Amino acid sequence: MTFDNTYRMLIGGALQAGSAGFDVINPATEEVIAQAPDATPDDLDRAVSAARAAFPAWAATPIADRKAALSALANAIWANAEEFKRLLTLEQGKPHHEAGSEVMGAGYWLQANTALDLPETVNEDSDDRISMTRHIPLGVVGAIAPWNFPLLLAMFKVAPALLAGNTMVLKPSPFTPLTTLKFGELARDILPPGVLNVISGGDALGPWMTSHPGFDKISFTGSTATGRRVMASAAPTLKRVTLELGGNDAAIVLPDVDVEKIAETLFWAAFSNNGQICIATKRMYIHKDIYEPMRDAIVAYAKTVKVGDGAEQGTQIGPINNRPQYERVLGLIEDARDKGYTFLLGGEKAEVPGYFVPITILDNPPEDSRIVQEEQFGPVLPLIRFDDLDDVIARTNATDYGLGGSVWSKDEEKAWDLAQKIQSGTVWVNETQHLSPLAAFGGIKQSGVGVEGGLEGLLEYTNAQTLVRRKKPAFAQ
Ligand code: NAD
Repeated sequence: MTFDNTYRMLIGGALQAGSAGFDVINPATEEVIAQAPDATPDDLDRAVSAARAAFPAWAATPIADRKAALSALANAIWANAEEFKRLLTLEQGKPHHEAGSEVMGAGYWLQANTALDLPETVNEDSDDRISMTRHIPLGVVGAIAPWNFPLLLAMFKVAPALLAGNTMVLKPSPFTPLTTLKFGELARDILPPGVLNVISGGDALGPWMTSHPGFDKISFTGSTATGRRVMASAAPTLKRVTLELGGNDAAIVLPDVDVEKIAETLFWAAFSNNGQICIATKRMYIHKDIYEPMRDAIVAYAKTVKVGDGAEQGTQIGPINNRPQYERVLGLIEDARDKGYTFLLGGEKAEVPGYFVPITILDNPPEDSRIVQEEQFGPVLPLIRFDDLDDVIARTNATDYGLGGSVWSKDEEKAWDLAQKIQSGTVWVNETQHLSPLAAFGGIKQSGVGVEGGLEGLLEYTNAQTLVRRKKPAFAQ
């Protein structure tokens, strides 16, 4: 299929233009590339009603058939991978090769979830009674996705929610609605009407969803600040929530690493997707014995990296996705400049159209600086010197965030031990950002509530129901 430039919502199996639209901007040029539908409260009501009407039949559909539907969705993404890739670069800014990986990964996530099943546990099977616990779907899920990996992170929710027998209303970020809306078009031909509804809108739509009484659960990925609002808004009707929130991941680099060999890997741990990854390395602690050579090797590699329009051949890093985030990142750089911190690279504003921030690396800013303490979510990295392991672990953990983290060393056992001292949902040794659809992923502390992925993630889309039956009559009948 060739994607045309019209974007419609999917509500109850019908594609709908919406009574008004909003502009979607290419962050590399600041040009308007499309109009997306701006959902009204009435559109939301209709999407929720459609999902609610579709729920009983979908919940009763054999799980093998629901898995077949996920496989069909995966195949539809892969069959349109080239179109999705180009559109994703246009709306998100990421280079084509990264957009291609995201699109393939989105299909993979749907397909891989079909390996999961809903367990039944026999609690008791005695002469007196049988007791078992099964997992039944919740009902209608409201899914709210961010703009850094719009298609992939939407599939993190679609795959387990639908597999477990729920129906869904999915909302992409207003900065990146286009690939998700096209996915909705493809889903229309695969899923029964109402099982998946896709609606787009402005800043008001998310709060309308979280306070809407028709949802049984909100699955949200975004910032910690918004996550707090989502949880508060979901409270009056006691909606279930899964919150995948922000992070301030530390990488701890021990003195025995091969400096030249790992510089490039460490660079990309922080700068892939222009630093706009929840599990990007956001502060890098380097042991004092190798601080200078490691610092110089990272900076030397950074100077070879091509920043530009993601649609151009050879681009390795694109623009920041949107103006508010661009201004936030510039604000952090300005703060570092005002405080007199040392810039190893970058720090100046790129005087070109588009939300471009040059690769910026800071030399050992203080621990209490904003760039160390806050989530930058952009191409600015503080390198920080340490000399004591207990001290670096204490600094790593002295934060409200707890999403990811990594330890780098030739001594894998030592690194493994150290990794277990990091208070985060995921910790890697000698790599970062490896996620699997079959492994639980989530934040601890204020990086999230609940997990996505694996059996644990699937079960968050279910209620546990225990059924008990006496084998011997308890009373005379
Ligand atoms: P955001 O919180 O601004 O927005 C996320 C989504 O929530 C968008 O769809 C937005 O329209 C919607 N939204 C905004 N206000 C809302 C409200 N009051 N109620 C309901 N919905 C609302 O986040 P973002 O800027 O799109 O994403 C960046 C953040 O997401 C970073 O902090 C990043 O670390 C985090 N993130 C976390 C994960 C994870 O898995 N833990 C993954 C990706 C991104």
